Amino acid sequence: MRVHLKTLGCRLNQSEMDSLARQFAANGDALTDSPAEADLMVVNTCAVTQEAVRSSRQSIHRLHRANPTAKIAVTGCYAHLAPEAVRPMAGVAYVIDNHAKESLVSIVTGAPLAAPQPFDREPIARQALIGVGGRTRAFLKVQDGCDRHCTFCLTRVARGKGRSRPIAEVVAEAQQLVAGGYRELVLTGVHLGSYGHDLGQPDGLYHLLRALLSDTDAPRLRLSSLEPWDLPPDLFKLWEDRRLCRHLHLPLQSGCDATLKRMARRTTQASFRALVAEARAIMPDVALATDVIVGFPGESDAEFAISRAFIEEMDFAALHVFRYSLREGTAAARLPNQVPEALKRQRADALLALAAQGARRFAERFIGQRRPVLWEAISGASERGFVNNGYTDNFLRVRCVVPHVLSNLLTDVQLVGLAEDQTLIGALEAAQLAEIGASAR
Ligand code: SF4
Repeated sequence: MRVHLKTLGCRLNQSEMDSLARQFAANGDALTDSPAEADLMVVNTCAVTQEAVRSSRQSIHRLHRANPTAKIAVTGCYAHLAPEAVRPMAGVAYVIDNHAKESLVSIVTGAPLAAPQPFDREPIARQALIGVGGRTRAFLKVQDGCDRHCTFCLTRVARGKGRSRPIAEVVAEAQQLVAGGYRELVLTGVHLGSYGHDLGQPDGLYHLLRALLSDTDAPRLRLSSLEPWDLPPDLFKLWEDRRLCRHLHLPLQSGCDATLKRMARRTTQASFRALVAEARAIMPDVALATDVIVGFPGESDAEFAISRAFIEEMDFAALHVFRYSLREGTAAARLPNQVPEALKRQRADALLALAAQGARRFAERFIGQRRPVLWEAISGASERGFVNNGYTDNFLRVRCVVPHVLSNLLTDVQLVGLAEDQTLIGALEAAQLAEIGASAR
């Protein structure tokens, strides 16, 4: 069977899709980038906002139009929360909720449920897997679900209680991914900081990272979104090992304590400030990213001004701005003083301006420095060579034109300038190029 995979939403969805890809490959099915060639199409949906729901539905419509004869299996948070809305859609043959997602391959192929054997068909499967989405970076799911009750959040409704994978299982999968050629592993979960709590390990994340650093040769480990509380003491000391990428995504959601309280977030200005100071003391070059919701119910002009000032003070390298969207089934949907759309848009624009300035300021700080870059893909070629694109450990996008394809190589690079599109321009030394040329022969 030829299978086309489409994922939307968060990195957790991405990691689950990578895992499904491995299971399909182990089952002898072929993965295809082209919906027109597929017998089966799997859509991993998202429902975090109304916009995400719209995109999920559009993707299903689009895939069906591209190939009306293929069956579509729909899973993910939208399928979990609204199966009755998904089932009648044209082409949909299966609706699989989040609890059954791990059995998806067995459900759609009829194959017995088996533990995934990612690389048991070497070298073909290995090559195919490295080729999935052209990635050099694999998403590794370590945790699912959440025990918190943030009042805007539907994710916890869709994902259930917090569950962690045992350390040995995560380490084994990481070793397989590294053996399969991946150079960077991104640890994903709904609430990564709570990793291990359900297993009676309050410092679970610390022990998991230590095990990954000592028991795998992963050249790079990166964490996806990390709620800014519940973090084990001394966690950031682990970043003294440069294999841990200096990039933290700490979702703030609001910089105003009163708004945070209505959101039922377990953070305040003071605790967030202290956490950031602790991280920056150990990693002054860390890229700090965050998410902010504007127009949460009851967010007055004064609250927004406080939030905005705090966001400015934190000087984020990346700021993702979301306009609050009312989700039935959440506590926030019942809160009074919903904010008009026009005002949400104004506030979002104000923060997006800050976001652009912050990203530029952060990138400019590194011009003239050397940074390690993992090269991912080429985006073109000229008479000077191939246009290689990659990311530094602190998640700066870098472009470098050299006579070689650098994909999946990790090299130090001199950052010499910043292009209009906020991409840093990198330069490799003649000796590095000679070495790369020699190893390619
Ligand atoms: S911590 Fe809050 S926002 Fe994050 S998944 Fe849990 S309930 Fe949702």
